[in-house]
Amino acid sequence: MKMICINCPKGCELDVEKSADGTVSVTGHTCPRGEAYGKSELLNPTRMVTGLVRVAGMRKPLPVKTRTAVPKAKIDAVLFAMHQATVQLPVAIGDVIIPDAAGSGVDIVATANM
Ligand code: SF4
Repeated sequence: MKMICINCPKGCELDVEKSADGTVSVTGHTCPRGEAYGKSELLNPTRMVTGLVRVAGMRKPLPVKTRTAVPKAKIDAVLFAMHQATVQLPVAIGDVIIPDAAGSGVDIVATANM
């Protein structure tokens, strides 16, 4: 599988292969971060998710994000949890808005003070 490493602007082109015994090999990287990225992308790809959560009594929504990256398979469920939530003010940056969003094990936190 070919992919581009997105960890820095150099954008190394990686070739990631999984052998029959389950070993993952990465070529094309020029630093250890690229090798780790290639393995992660093949075995358990994850992404940070950002979004907006409704605020009770206000038209302006609260910007939020996942505290850490979540598995790609959980992204739709995490976005749905954001869509379903309503938060009460006040809120500070870093406050947990939705704990363990959609059973992902990752909290959704505020990225603004309101
Ligand atoms: S492998 Fe290293 S140098 Fe290449 S894009 Fe990834 S982080 Fe940058």
